[in-house]
Amino acid sequence: MHLEDVSIEGFKSFSEETDMRFQAGISVIMGNNGVGKSNILDAVVWAMGEDSLDRLRCYSPDDLFFGGNRTQPPAHRIKVRLTFRESREKDAVGMTVSREMTRDGQNRFTIEGDDATPEMYRRQLSAFHTKDALKTIIRQEQINDLVSMPPPRRFEAVCSLMDLDPTRGIPGDFQDQLAQRLTRYMGYLMPEADIALKLGARNGAKDLDIQVAMPGDRRLRLHQLSGGQKAVTSLALKLALFGQLQSPFYLLDEVEPSLDYTHHKSMQAFLKDVSARTQLIMITHLRTTIELADSLHGVRTRPDGSSFMKFYFLMNKKLLRLYKCC
Ligand code: ATP
Ligand code: MG
Repeated sequence: MHLEDVSIEGFKSFSEETDMRFQAGISVIMGNNGVGKSNILDAVVWAMGEDSLDRLRCYSPDDLFFGGNRTQPPAHRIKVRLTFRESREKDAVGMTVSREMTRDGQNRFTIEGDDATPEMYRRQLSAFHTKDALKTIIRQEQINDLVSMPPPRRFEAVCSLMDLDPTRGIPGDFQDQLAQRLTRYMGYLMPEADIALKLGARNGAKDLDIQVAMPGDRRLRLHQLSGGQKAVTSLALKLALFGQLQSPFYLLDEVEPSLDYTHHKSMQAFLKDVSARTQLIMITHLRTTIELADSLHGVRTRPDGSSFMKFYFLMNKKLLRLYKCC
């Protein structure tokens, strides 16, 4: 299952209908600062049923509508259409849904072109294994949030992400699977470190701590890690948690900011591993991530400031060679 097609119209900086076709493996969205890359993620998230303005990076619902410029009027309607496909096969089963909204707050949901209630829409998306897709997103501002929290808050955040009752704790089999995934991912990203999940309780509050043992028997707690080590651990932890959720795609918005060259290389192996099971739609400026792309999507702005897709490439060996040498 993967997100195959996204069409955006009137949403934030996308004034005109804009189509993009993603690949089942890794799709990379690239472009300069401010061209509208993160707006694409917002559009997907909104069409998946998100209503929280905060999570859509807005103050008011009006912020979702293209605001207009000297050549184009403001949008009065937004429409985002998503197509999912069961597999890469040509005749694989697919599903197209869309969400529309007008400035007076009227929403319209469709499934295969037919009107649907919000409940039918939600159920249809769940039937396509996307129950948790709104959770498998890492925003560029959020990369370190889980590792920066105090352990009791981390425990609550993990329970909330996993829909677990915090008073009952985290079940043993879940802990084992999480620990296994985390160890595997850290094996790529920080092979010199041994990582251990620690569930405990302090002052009556349950907490979740992570200990990292470095060479020389140095045992570090999360807050003692360097910025880059935190980013690596955070990414591994988040994706290990995502592995427990039901989502066919992860949206990753510039998640590799403060990694050194060695880490970028191991990051490639890590991303390949994750993308073997889950589609990754990644926003990045990094060459090493771009080299992994199955498709490349170039976003640009027109002279009037609105966004458009300047190019779309299906990556192949020849293109990759060309890319690497220029
Ligand atoms: P960066 O690499 O810096 O994160 P980005 O490509 O992710 O950049 P976005 O956050 O997607 O950038 O887009 C920001 C742009 O979208 C800004 O130029 C902003 O003016 C424009 N924008 C945001 N909301 C609207 C709107 N409602 N109408 C028109 N333009 C908008
Ligand atoms: Mg951005």
